[in-house]
Amino acid sequence: MATDATSNAAIIAQMRTLIDALKTHNNAYYVLDNPILEDSEYDQLRLSLIELEEEYPDLVQSDSPINQVGDMPLSAFTQVTHDTPMLSLGNVFEYDDLRDFMRRVNDRLSVAQQSPEYEMELKLDGLAVSLKYEYGKFVQAVTRGDGQTGEDITQNAKTIRNLPLWLADAADIALLEVRGEVVMPKAGFERLNRLALENDDKVFANPRNAAAGSLRQLDPSIAASRPLAFYAYSVNQGLPETIETQSAALAWLGDIGFSVSAVRVIQNPREAQEYYESVIDKRAQLPFEIDGTVIKVNSLALQQQLSFLSREPRWATAYKFPAETVMTRLQAIDWQV
Ligand code: NAD
Repeated sequence: MATDATSNAAIIAQMRTLIDALKTHNNAYYVLDNPILEDSEYDQLRLSLIELEEEYPDLVQSDSPINQVGDMPLSAFTQVTHDTPMLSLGNVFEYDDLRDFMRRVNDRLSVAQQSPEYEMELKLDGLAVSLKYEYGKFVQAVTRGDGQTGEDITQNAKTIRNLPLWLADAADIALLEVRGEVVMPKAGFERLNRLALENDDKVFANPRNAAAGSLRQLDPSIAASRPLAFYAYSVNQGLPETIETQSAALAWLGDIGFSVSAVRVIQNPREAQEYYESVIDKRAQLPFEIDGTVIKVNSLALQQQLSFLSREPRWATAYKFPAETVMTRLQAIDWQV
């Protein structure tokens, strides 16, 4: 018995060490926009805790961050509760895991609905934001924050050049909520860091942190001077009822004035792999950073049916790239894949 108690104490101590480290790094990344670790090192810590928790479910600590989305927002901004939570995404790194994800989706659907159509997009590496429009007029932008509550960054969002402030084609929609990613294009990031070096200012670790840091400036004129862009990836409220798929929703968003990421409809794991590999081939030439692709069940009705599991939807997952260490220079090319 004493041995059990001793080994439990040792496992709990290991868990506590990992939890403390993850909390420190979550704060550095999500709140301060100043990560200490490489993402792959952070992912390794997270995986170690997941493995321990799976092996010893009875010892899982109540404050484990594993099922948490992001981190609590900074208090300097007004906090806003999302109408529905802004989730994270599960992820896979290998073809076999992608196939398992698609198999799990199949298993959850009735036989008649099995092997649904999927849709794939670029996984933009920025900051998730929810935008609200009332009768076509832009009224609010809120960050994902901890998934339940985000920061009101409306004034800063207004300075993003490709973010539409008026949607003539959505003027009859009482409330439209569009979700997407704010990114800093690579060329703008390099320019910003060059200037920061010259002026002895803070240099950002990567475009993602630069985008997040810029969007959370208390002075909107600083955000206005930063090269930010918004890419829409979903409609959370107000989608016309005639639109039944994710791919059609993105086409509609493009039609009414949003920038959207490249999309491909696929039917099976082999086609998903082809898209993923075609994106890897073009990754270096894209104007912004991506850290993988996202695969989503295309039917919005099936998405509803599959629902979500704590911090992530069951109907989508990120198919991520292995860690990249070299950033290649921007080339202007057609980035549709
Ligand atoms: P995530 O970034 O891996 O995936 C979820 C997010 O993907 C969504 O919230 C959304 O904003 C985004 N996204 C981009 N394109 C999308 C699209 N087309 N459709 C839907 N969503 C899209 O998850 P996360 O929970 O925000 O962050 C985890 C990541 O952050 C990991 O890569 C981790 O390494 C990194 N991280 C690093 C540190 C560190 O210390 N370096 C700390 C914390 C987190």
